[in-house]
Amino acid sequence: MPAIHPITPSVARDPSIHSSHANAPTVLRTQGLEVTYDNGTRALLPTSLEFAQGEFIVLLGASGAGKSTLLRSLNGLIRPGAGQVIATGTGDLSDPAHLRNHRRKTGMIFQQHHLIGRLSVLANVLTGRLGYHSLLATLAPWSRAEKESALAALDRVGLLDRALDRADQLSGGQQQRVGVARALVQEPRVLLADEPVASLDPATAERLLSLLHGICKSDGLTLIVSLHQVEFAKQFADRIVGLHAGSVVFDGAPAALTPERAQSLYGTQSSSSLKQTPHNVINFQPAGALS
Ligand code: ADP
Repeated sequence: MPAIHPITPSVARDPSIHSSHANAPTVLRTQGLEVTYDNGTRALLPTSLEFAQGEFIVLLGASGAGKSTLLRSLNGLIRPGAGQVIATGTGDLSDPAHLRNHRRKTGMIFQQHHLIGRLSVLANVLTGRLGYHSLLATLAPWSRAEKESALAALDRVGLLDRALDRADQLSGGQQQRVGVARALVQEPRVLLADEPVASLDPATAERLLSLLHGICKSDGLTLIVSLHQVEFAKQFADRIVGLHAGSVVFDGAPAALTPERAQSLYGTQSSSSLKQTPHNVINFQPAGALS
């Protein structure tokens, strides 16, 4: 058995691990990012991560590990207690102007798709354009170009023929694809997806992840998605970031996440006992060191 050493909360990436993205520009990074909720929960300990253009990153970790907190921080929905989120070409998100620009270019996909059921599928997709309109302009009809872009996005997710149906007439998997189309009309640089397949059956979940993977690769989008299923992470991710109790405890290629490491990531012990036992923290090794 390899020696297991505790690691610091922020794990430096070995660039050799991700050869396909080693030279890709960084689009988003966190620097010593910390989040403590009002009730005192330290949801994210100092975390420094870089995300490259075109990279498909899966966040893994047990419930309460901090995945959602990290994703919401990356979109500026949570104000950090310390540290920064920096979008390349935009800047530190603590500046409201930078935050607005970043949000416009960042698509969010949620576990519950947040569609308006009584509106048409097309109208729901068009709401993805709201970030490009002033408050007054949202009262005006959508431009022809925006409608064409929404129809093209629906075509991409295989739902063009359902454009005029009410959103609540679609299945869960189809509604989730509408959520993807809505994110696409934002013309995003980054897509953040918080457990997007948690309420889908395995076959539908795999189809959705395959769709997201195809979009990420063909458009050069950075996709950061939290999942519970290790198998899907290994199937689709370029890189897996494992979180435990608010710390990054694994950051590497899917091949480096052995069954033992995956097991320790989720753990069989309660999180409180894990917190008191630093030797349970997964040892990080570059992928090359394993073969
Ligand atoms: P995950 O997405 O991995 O399940 P979360 O980021 O949702 O983890 O939660 C991380 C920790 O922060 C957990 O202990 C959770 O209970 C806590 N937490 C999440 N949201 C809030 C909140 N709004 N107020 C207080 N604590 C929260």
